[in-house]
Amino acid sequence: MVEQRTRISEGLDTSSVWIREGDDRLAGQDSDARLAELRIGLRRHFGVRCVDAVADDAAVERTLAALHGPAHLAALDAAGEEATVMPQLAPPGLEPDIPVNAALVAAAREAVRTALSAADRLLAGDRYTYAVCRPPGHHAGPHFIGGYCYLNNAAAAIEALRAGGLAPVGVLDLDLHYPNGTSELVERMGADVTLHSLHAAPVTNVAAGTELPRAPRERAHAFSAAPDPVAYLAEVETSLTELAVDSAALVVSLGYDTAEGDPHGSWHFGPEVFAGIGRLLAATELPVCIVQEGGYALGALAPCSHAFASGLLGEDPV
Ligand SMILES: [Zn+2]
Repeated sequence: MVEQRTRISEGLDTSSVWIREGDDRLAGQDSDARLAELRIGLRRHFGVRCVDAVADDAAVERTLAALHGPAHLAALDAAGEEATVMPQLAPPGLEPDIPVNAALVAAAREAVRTALSAADRLLAGDRYTYAVCRPPGHHAGPHFIGGYCYLNNAAAAIEALRAGGLAPVGVLDLDLHYPNGTSELVERMGADVTLHSLHAAPVTNVAAGTELPRAPRERAHAFSAAPDPVAYLAEVETSLTELAVDSAALVVSLGYDTAEGDPHGSWHFGPEVFAGIGRLLAATELPVCIVQEGGYALGALAPCSHAFASGLLGEDPV
């Protein structure tokens, strides 16, 4: 597990402020409390080792420049203390759904540093690495933000793996929501990256009328109702089997907003589903970089992350 640096020591409250869902503006659910719960669950497993996010500022900036447009980065850099809506950063065809402030941008940079550090562990020979990071990233595209996401952490990890020669990269997004940002970024990367996503329908974070999958080399499997865990894990296995054929490594965008009680979700997964995901990843015998996406039911995060580690690494000895 790669632990994200928090900015509390600098007096920054990096919590999300609000998010718009349809016509409603909801209180933000993304904060460092999520990281704390995820770490508790992962640390509970005897096989998990904790390391700090050590990628340097130059690596972070170089990666961000490769992924996001200069206007995107300049707008985020210009954010002040006050939470401000930036309509120019809304996803194509959609209204803005989150505000920007300097503290959130600082946290988003630390999340990218964490994802890069996790990718570096894989390049150094680790079999598994887990970037415990926030805010999430998979709704951040080349020129847009959304759904708590400002900068794309998973895409940063993919870029680092490719640059380090660990390619082709198979990307599996298991957050509840369709990864509109990762999709656009992966599409630009070229033939050595393939994206699969399992998510809930209807998908609301792409412009009305958009057909999914929206890019070549993409599999988009939507569930119109909360799936049965057995059916869900069968789809995870289908994706992993396909991705494993032509991947040297996997990047998994893992969301726990599929869990019971999530304030942004309507599914009911218990920890055993995440244990199942871990077991299926282990069975691929590929190096795996896990990048944290959503999951906002604070009480569910530690049980789910511990179950995931148990599936991936084997049960704790009693
Ligand atoms: Zn989500």
